[in-house]
Amino acid sequence: MTAPDIGSRATVSGLLRDIAHLGVDSRRGGYSRPVYSTAELDLRGWFIAEVERRGLTVETDRNGALWAWWDLPSGDRSDALITGSHLDSVPGGGQFDGPLGVASALVALDELRRRDLPRERALALVVFPEEEGSRFGVACLGSRLMAGAIAPDAARALKDPEGNTFADVAKANGLDPEGIGPEPELLASLGAFVELHVEQGLGLIDLGRPIAIGGAILGHGRWRISLYGQGNHAGTTLMADRRDPMIAAARAVVAIRDAAKRRPNARATVGRLQPVPGGTNVIASRVDFWIDVRHPDDAVTADLVEEIRRTAELIAAEEDCTMEFREESLSPTVSFDAGLSAQLGRSLPGAPVLDTGAGHDAGVLAAKLPSAMLFVRNPNGVSHSPEEYVEDADAEIGAAALADALADLLAGER
Ligand SMILES: [Zn+2]
Repeated sequence: MTAPDIGSRATVSGLLRDIAHLGVDSRRGGYSRPVYSTAELDLRGWFIAEVERRGLTVETDRNGALWAWWDLPSGDRSDALITGSHLDSVPGGGQFDGPLGVASALVALDELRRRDLPRERALALVVFPEEEGSRFGVACLGSRLMAGAIAPDAARALKDPEGNTFADVAKANGLDPEGIGPEPELLASLGAFVELHVEQGLGLIDLGRPIAIGGAILGHGRWRISLYGQGNHAGTTLMADRRDPMIAAARAVVAIRDAAKRRPNARATVGRLQPVPGGTNVIASRVDFWIDVRHPDDAVTADLVEEIRRTAELIAAEEDCTMEFREESLSPTVSFDAGLSAQLGRSLPGAPVLDTGAGHDAGVLAAKLPSAMLFVRNPNGVSHSPEEYVEDADAEIGAAALADALADLLAGER
């Protein structure tokens, strides 16, 4: 490990190299860093060490988010700025989704302290837990809890693939599961959130620019379909006698793709499918699969999901199976704060404004405080995959842009 400190100019790429060994997934490729896994806890430890090396301390809030405050001499935290991202990943994800924003926040903090400009606001570096929803199924769980966008009871009851409840896992990691939930006072004290993130598309490559300002986040949601049939022996059950939910699931997956293709700009994905019991020589008794649906127009999303529900129900009936359809999360299209984004535009002249199809904590918190995003160029546009990439030079440009934007905001410009 290199030993960055304020004097030796930590770089984003250097910080990311320091954590490149954490959560490597040799089976899938890339990284698997689900919330409260050893890998994610090690990443939290890295963040805490980096912050402490800079003379700040880290507070863990009731929902498990990490806060590192660069306070004013007065200790006044009203109208504070926050920046940061997440450290958890999807299964087999890339190196940059989340950690780029956290490492950039650390480097931007160093730069701001070096500049030693007068400032009127405190700054907090923040790390939100379970942004990807890859363990408990609800994306941005930490920021949703904080914003009151999910009921604490519903969050406590969420289960990971092993059947552990969020309440139990939170407790095992030092949280009081009865204490999770909204933070209205904290939110009211915050002035703005700026989240830097790797771009998850080809917008910047096409424009030949390294940095963009976030415009809107497409509305998106997750639904779970459970298909029930009759579990039986693969050798003794004649084809004509089967009630096989895997066949219904396979047909439904294709129908979902077709339904999405009929609507311009719609995206519908089945990326996770679980047969029960999941044996090679067993006809499944049940298949669960999850659909991720996104579109800029919330009415189109609703219409598409309704068509998927009706079609899957029809297919289930044709295969002599039954179906259960459940919404797990739904986030309407979010436009970031116009005033804050305009301010970022003045700080970063020439930066284009790009919408994104990916959800973010900044999108959840946008309902509660002025929020904005910066995107850093991704040469191949690939994300949630080992191929996700950011050039070293672009990563440093991103952190410098974040520092420039924060400097203007800290000086009190609104
Ligand atoms: Zn992310």
